[in-house]
Amino acid sequence: MTNQVDNRKVAVVGCGFVGSSSAFALMQSGLFSEIALVDVNREKAEGEALDISHGVPFVGQVKVYAADYDDIMDAAIVVVTAGTAQKPGETRLDLVNKNIRIFQSILPEFKKRNYKGILLVVSNPVDILTLAALKLSGLPEQRVIGSGTVLDTARLKTALGEHLDVDSRSVHSFIIGEHGDSEMVAWSSTNVSGIPLNDFCEMRGHFAHDEAMDRIADEVRNSAYEIIAKKHATYYGIAMSVVRICKAIVMNERSILPVSTMMHGEYGIEGICLSMPVIVGEEGVSVHVPLVLNEEERESLLASAKALKDVAQSAGL
Ligand code: NAD
Repeated sequence: MTNQVDNRKVAVVGCGFVGSSSAFALMQSGLFSEIALVDVNREKAEGEALDISHGVPFVGQVKVYAADYDDIMDAAIVVVTAGTAQKPGETRLDLVNKNIRIFQSILPEFKKRNYKGILLVVSNPVDILTLAALKLSGLPEQRVIGSGTVLDTARLKTALGEHLDVDSRSVHSFIIGEHGDSEMVAWSSTNVSGIPLNDFCEMRGHFAHDEAMDRIADEVRNSAYEIIAKKHATYYGIAMSVVRICKAIVMNERSILPVSTMMHGEYGIEGICLSMPVIVGEEGVSVHVPLVLNEEERESLLASAKALKDVAQSAGL
């Protein structure tokens, strides 16, 4: 990590449901000694900072405060959650133009101040906004990361863990592509502690593989819609995903996570951001880890990439 940023400091831009839940989870993580909150609505940032800071005596020392852009340029990571949230029935891609305009007011602040840390984009549609952040911030590609399908992959592991009655951490699988409707499960490489998925299913008495996997993939793909229909926003799962990614960065874990990053011909995809497993550490993202895909999966991934490319082009990115 460059010595121009403080590895114990994180900032969150946008303190709505997702930003405040992320700050709350980050406060409890013990990873940081400073958490700075920025919002266009300064009072909202101040209120959230006060509320979250009252939990500090139960955890361990960390300063949580409302801030401006000048205060956060030494943060190792800036988590960007500013934006309009998805309304019931609205797709993530519907949000694109509204949230690009919001990003046009935020990201140049980092460019102006020559920010040296890592931007973690969470606002939706996350793949398009990661691309927008890359262009608007002027930061190198390895330091602009979208939370991508880290959350979707956690949802998948939860569902598979329940289906198989096994610890979800023993399930190894990735959701790849868009964080959204065209995302897909890399089923052919899915395993449970090294045991191929279908073998493990049979060990647990499940034999209708295709039916079960289709149902689980649909459930995962639609879970944000279901939560939004029931409680208007999703925030706890994404908050934990933010902590997971921040931990990989500041602890230089070199973890393999399906975050959204710029593609340069990997799997035949070029010039857009989407999620594939990559190594995440203190420099941001590095090597794409080659995932073995069968022909059908490869085609679905290319279709997901095309859907994103069409949106990026129509948004002028
Ligand atoms: P929200 O409406 O509760 O909060 C948005 C916040 O952004 C508000 O506090 C608002 O004042 C602030 N904001 C707006 N414009 C700003 C600007 N120019 N500068 C600074 N702050 C600004 O919304 P939410 O539920 O917190 O969702 C935030 C975003 O996160 C949405 O785009 C949502 O779709 C996305 N999201 C992403 C994931 C994921 O997995 N990537 C999951 C859930 C939600």
